Amino acid sequence: MESFYEQCKANNLKITPQRVAVFKALTSSLSHPSADQIHRELKKEFPNISLDTVNRTLLTFAKADMIDVVEGHGDPRRFDPNQEAHHHFYCISCRGIFDFHDSAVDNISVSPELEKRFTITGKRLCLSGYCDNCRSSQ
Ligand SMILES: [Zn+2]
Ligand SMILES: [Zn+2]
Repeated sequence: MESFYEQCKANNLKITPQRVAVFKALTSSLSHPSADQIHRELKKEFPNISLDTVNRTLLTFAKADMIDVVEGHGDPRRFDPNQEAHHHFYCISCRGIFDFHDSAVDNISVSPELEKRFTITGKRLCLSGYCDNCRSSQ
């Protein structure tokens, strides 16, 4: 949370209880929640918070590069608090998105044809399948 306050300061964002709560809810989830999921979670503590507020707060954080937007899989937009280089595993059953690190994947090389076609600024692999939980209930 320390760095949350610093990042807010650096981006001239006012620190409000709602912003703190949205950020906390995002970082305490391991599966890259959507605005809707965070909204449902926060309504217990903030009965008056609207989905629109949650959505706008998340997009404000994303704009300030404090979090990432994960485009995904026909689902609503999902949010990622992890700013380190990492890869994703998408569970097609529970729709969780899980972070993973793998140095072999980090070192994947891109063919010269691809380098010519695109300017590549990042490498993130997204694997899909069943997570541990869903696999055992198959
Ligand atoms: Zn799953
Ligand atoms: Zn992630």
